[in-house]
Amino acid sequence: MDFRLTDEQLQVEEMVRGLSRKEFAPRAAQVDEESRYPAENHRRLAELGLLGMLYPASYGGAEAGPVSYAIALREVAGGCASTGVGMAVTNMTGEAIFRFGNDAQRSRYLPMLSAGKGAGAFALTEPGAGSDAGGLSTFARKDGDGFILDGSKVFITNGSHACVMIVMALTQKSPRRISAFLVEPGTPGLSVGKCERKMGLKGSDTVSLSFEECRVPGSAMLGAPGEGLKIALSTLDGGRIGIASQAIGIARSALSTATEYARDRRQFGQAIGEFQAIQWMLADAATELDAAQLLVFRAASLKEKGLPYSKEASMAKLFATEAGNRASLSAVQVLGGYGYIREYPVERHLRDIRVTTIYEGTSEIQRLVISRALCG
Ligand SMILES: Cc1cc2nc3c(=O)[nH]c(=O)nc-3n(C[C@H](O)[C@H](O)[C@H](O)COP(=O)(O)OP(=O)(O)OC[C@H]3O[C@@H](n4cnc5c(N)ncnc54)[C@H](O)[C@@H]3O)c2cc1C
Repeated sequence: MDFRLTDEQLQVEEMVRGLSRKEFAPRAAQVDEESRYPAENHRRLAELGLLGMLYPASYGGAEAGPVSYAIALREVAGGCASTGVGMAVTNMTGEAIFRFGNDAQRSRYLPMLSAGKGAGAFALTEPGAGSDAGGLSTFARKDGDGFILDGSKVFITNGSHACVMIVMALTQKSPRRISAFLVEPGTPGLSVGKCERKMGLKGSDTVSLSFEECRVPGSAMLGAPGEGLKIALSTLDGGRIGIASQAIGIARSALSTATEYARDRRQFGQAIGEFQAIQWMLADAATELDAAQLLVFRAASLKEKGLPYSKEASMAKLFATEAGNRASLSAVQVLGGYGYIREYPVERHLRDIRVTTIYEGTSEIQRLVISRALCG
């Protein structure tokens, strides 16, 4: 066992950390304040090959592997969490198209995604189907050589900036069969709702999608008919490593601000970092975030080797997002009143990280996945 990163992974870490600290972090407060989609960050990610990290160069990707991807995403999210989630969903969409798409689909969409011509979106959740994603009701009925989609999706990240969306829909009601479709923006019958106003991740667009008699060609189907739920769930396995990394990145930034503050802030004639109560908060947060990082690296390494990793990805997501939330809450506490005001970034980190225990499967659903794997 070797806990050291390879030279290549270290290079990715250094390059993305530099980019994120120099360009993304300084804009993050303004992006949050104005609830503005940071298109310039998306362009920079594309320029540096960070939007197609999980497929080969023949399709415009960087094929950096899941471990390097986890590192890159952590560093991006540490600077700007909204940019991090946009990057995560774009990479996840591209990877799904690479894994399940045919050559025509790969050739059409993957170079666009990696070049940043648009983001990728993954549309599974519906008003009546969240955790129970298999209960979705968007219907795709066969129409000649194509399909007509009717239904609606909610909470779709990147939905208004996507160049392609993977949309899960029922193609048969009884027995239920779900299929996946690649839908392009501007397709007649597809309307994109307004951006949700959220607690955090305000620079990420989260929209509803409505499909009314929305016709797509038969060639838009991703994978085989009836394979949609399998595609969605296995895509989410990889996505969970990404969200765990996002949480670690955000929480590390919060912890770094708290540590610096604990060194500088003096009360009762000494630095607050000399009080054991503060020391323990910092030590617990640092330890839990390191443990989370090891779980993420384990899941990503299994994935990189082509081994099963679903349970490990859920464990990483469960632990990293919960630990990240605890660490961010502690960071606010360490800063006292200053932790609660916008002059310092920790209140934003806390708002941004909150959703990581919810999307791509809540913590309760991760426990379900883990316990099912344990019980066989
Ligand atoms: C900012 C944001 C971005 C998102 N981006 C996307 C996206 O890009 N694509 C997409 O498809 N979706 C996206 N989502 C949706 C997200 O994945 C869902 O919100 C999430 O899966 C939970 O579904 P729900 O909100 O319907 O909650 P529900 O499923 O209604 O859950 C409510 C509560 O009940 C609990 N619960 C539900 N079932 C069980 C159970 N069996 N056992 C124990 N507890 C249970 C849940 O854990 C939760 O605490 C996004 C959401 C947000 C907030």
